Amino acid sequence: MTTGTEMSEQPRSRRQTRAAILTHLLQSGGSFRPPLAKAVRLSEASLSRILFDLKAEGLIEEIRRPAPYVGGPTGLVSLDGTVALAGLELTSQHLSVGVGGLAGELHYSERVPLPKRMTSESVGRVFREALTLLREWTRRRRISLAQIGVTIPGLGRLSVSGNPIIPCDVERIGQMFGELCTDVPVAFTNSVVAHATFHRCRTHNYPFSDAHLFVFVGQGVAGTWMDDPNEGDALEPVELGHMVFEPGGPRCRCGHHGCVEAYTSLPALAALLGTTEAELLQLGSEWVTTIPLTSRTRRQLRQRLFRLGLAIGNTLNVKPCRGVVVSGWPSLLAEDDRKAIIDGIDACLLGGRTLARVSLAFVPPSNGNDPQAALAFAAFCLTRSGGMPAASTEAA
Ligand SMILES: [Zn+2]
Repeated sequence: MTTGTEMSEQPRSRRQTRAAILTHLLQSGGSFRPPLAKAVRLSEASLSRILFDLKAEGLIEEIRRPAPYVGGPTGLVSLDGTVALAGLELTSQHLSVGVGGLAGELHYSERVPLPKRMTSESVGRVFREALTLLREWTRRRRISLAQIGVTIPGLGRLSVSGNPIIPCDVERIGQMFGELCTDVPVAFTNSVVAHATFHRCRTHNYPFSDAHLFVFVGQGVAGTWMDDPNEGDALEPVELGHMVFEPGGPRCRCGHHGCVEAYTSLPALAALLGTTEAELLQLGSEWVTTIPLTSRTRRQLRQRLFRLGLAIGNTLNVKPCRGVVVSGWPSLLAEDDRKAIIDGIDACLLGGRTLARVSLAFVPPSNGNDPQAALAFAAFCLTRSGGMPAASTEAA
């Protein structure tokens, strides 16, 4: 991790420059040369030299087409469609495995159900099964993978050995990748980081391009600090969903009681609406219109959203930040109901939301789209590395 302001003034390494170009292409979905040069702060001549290398390495492609501005025809640069990535996404019901491309296309996906009794051994066996499927599928088609991304709920510094959400031994699973997918770079991350990456790369007109807090409300509730891409590339999970509001409250899957997640996660919403999480996922965005809300339920819903707002506001009190993006079921509600989140933020944020100048945006939920988030994370790992394998040493 690097601290922003210094880095932007220091000369960038070859890897950092390549990473800036590739990540910009990933997040924009493609760019003409002049705006690309501007976005990554390079002269067109320098950009041209680097694009030549990236093209030769099969990482980008360029289509000549008329630019929508004065200056005549130029090249539309985008990430190469033939690069193959794999993603493995662990959810509370299954382990999803898939192969996809840099632009978000999905070539293959399979779901391996999790056992009823979850231990790190039984979850480990599910990983072995998914990896075997992945190896067979890629071998049969002679596809070599450029990067694998693995997402695990609750993964963090404290839980590498003992995950409080789903038991799994990340170190042993990592060794399994070494045996079954030799020579492919593998990166593990917390599920919320992967969903944040998914939205940042795949949401058209994503609301923020500078530093902000991404909040994901799904099977769990969690956040990610997202850096300004010109000042660093850190994606840091923040477990705001486990902020405890009532020590005697409902039990949370982390083992504690009264966490904000226990009131606002998708399973908690399902219980409030008298349905199941599976049914909610199946209804998708339709549940808002399909399931009628009594005034009592709506009141409770707003109380819970208010709590979510408090958790977000308190997070911003700890680390101030100007932008918040919320993804998940609250994004589907009418503005009137969503206002409870803003009220919650206002009620605890030092100086209030207006004085603190925090803007809030909603993006659609991405629950149930696994392994798309793991694939987006794999794409991000590849672009962030500048398309250079971690082991290769770089010229100074
Ligand atoms: Zn909890």
